Amino acid sequence: MSEAIRILVWAKGARRRIALLDEGKLAEFYLEERDDTSLVNAVILGRVERVVPGMHAAFVQLGQSLNGYLPLSEKEDFQRSGEDKPLSAGAELIVQVKKDARDQKGAFLTRDISLPGQYLILMPLNRYVGVSKRVADDDERAALMALGHELSGNAYGLVMRSAALPARPDALVQERDSLLALWTAIRERAVYAKAPAVLQRDLSVLSALVRDYAPRYEITITCNDAVNRMPSPPTGLLWEQVGEPEMEALWKSSRVAAQLQEALGRRVELRNGGSLVIDEREALTTVDVNSGKFIPAASDDLPLKLNLAACPEIARQLRLREASGIVLIDFIDMKNDEQRAQVALRMKEELSRERDKTVVHGFTSLGLLEMTRKRAGASLRERIARPCETCGGTGYRLERESVT
Ligand SMILES: [Zn+2]
Repeated sequence: MSEAIRILVWAKGARRRIALLDEGKLAEFYLEERDDTSLVNAVILGRVERVVPGMHAAFVQLGQSLNGYLPLSEKEDFQRSGEDKPLSAGAELIVQVKKDARDQKGAFLTRDISLPGQYLILMPLNRYVGVSKRVADDDERAALMALGHELSGNAYGLVMRSAALPARPDALVQERDSLLALWTAIRERAVYAKAPAVLQRDLSVLSALVRDYAPRYEITITCNDAVNRMPSPPTGLLWEQVGEPEMEALWKSSRVAAQLQEALGRRVELRNGGSLVIDEREALTTVDVNSGKFIPAASDDLPLKLNLAACPEIARQLRLREASGIVLIDFIDMKNDEQRAQVALRMKEELSRERDKTVVHGFTSLGLLEMTRKRAGASLRERIARPCETCGGTGYRLERESVT
């Protein structure tokens, strides 16, 4: 049942390049520095710098150059009124980083801590029980919801991830207990720590990939350094170490660099002669599906076939590029709603290869497939490329003779 994922880890100096190949194609790419600066999901004992009531927000010292931004909703204040005094400058509090600091904006923080496992996400400070949006079947959702309520006993919040579906019940109980133990350990560290201090950091990129994909896929990791940072690799994980020349050859034969180069561009050729044109903006990504040389006659189902064939590549490009925010796909015009529903379903299936990230909302009134995709870090482009100095990143240069 499980399909194979191959992860190449090329360690060079203080940097590791991590390429995840899904069905032989590059699907995810990460750079990891030896002392990685990303704090996403880190739990930190912060110190309140100031509270700004007009903004319903507090600025919190984290030990970084920029203070973190903590929104304070009135609902949250109400919920916590029993245990917390109103925040004031100088107060110490436990926060979690949801987004890293960037572009002069401090890290985005929350007080609602969530600790992810393979099957469950523990939210020790609320009592919300939910099911991953990726589980679409109503019966499966209901079963997971019931299981979630049972596991939580109304004592804390739990989100049931899709991997919980085929898992054995004792594995879920075990994971719940280890996440609760982690939370206890974090709170104990907070008692002795001097703010600002990092109490808990997320796993390394590699460990998180294994945690999230091992329940569903067979994973082979090929690495050219001996450092196995995984404390307890799951069974079924294949780990092989190779020399650097071998890794370089593997990197080349897997076409990692070529696929990264393609993922920085706008145009992606499809195997059947069609193409995608992808435009990435900060909060909006648009994908235009072109049929190429085919001129579909109104009578046949060629548009449907071309659209279905484009779905895997669209899903892979969104995943590799780390698109975020709203995604709009302009498919080739189809005959009817039934065909559109088929395409939306195929898109969902293809997107489900990835960790919980994208939600398909359906077709808009103008016939675009609308989706939203979450991401916490930077896009691929921000991580591995710089805007062109000649055109300022627009792709256009002013034609002097037309304006002077
Ligand atoms: Zn340029």
